[in-house]
Amino acid sequence: MTTTGELARRQTMFREVNENIASLTNLLSATDYQLFICECSDNACAESLDLTAEEYMTVRASGTHFVVKPGHQQAGIERVVDGNGRFLVVEKIGRAADIAQADYPDHK
Ligand SMILES: [Zn+2]
Repeated sequence: MTTTGELARRQTMFREVNENIASLTNLLSATDYQLFICECSDNACAESLDLTAEEYMTVRASGTHFVVKPGHQQAGIERVVDGNGRFLVVEKIGRAADIAQADYPDHK
């Protein structure tokens, strides 16, 4: 059984990977599509998403927001707040939000 805490921690780990992608690609072009990793809570998921570094940084501005592939959102720990054909932006709710925020002290 996977706990909410484990799910949230997995997402914050992928967030760090994606932040590195964003900061590297920012140097090249902020407006071209780059491959980011789906930040959903499925351990088996390693899907890629097309976002521009600019789009990603907009999502990243909030500590409780994550990018996931459409359909990968998980009811109960997050809700969809934005999105398009390429990706959804989900906001953590409840305990998952607390964990996501605690791991991200620079973005209160
Ligand atoms: Zn996924």
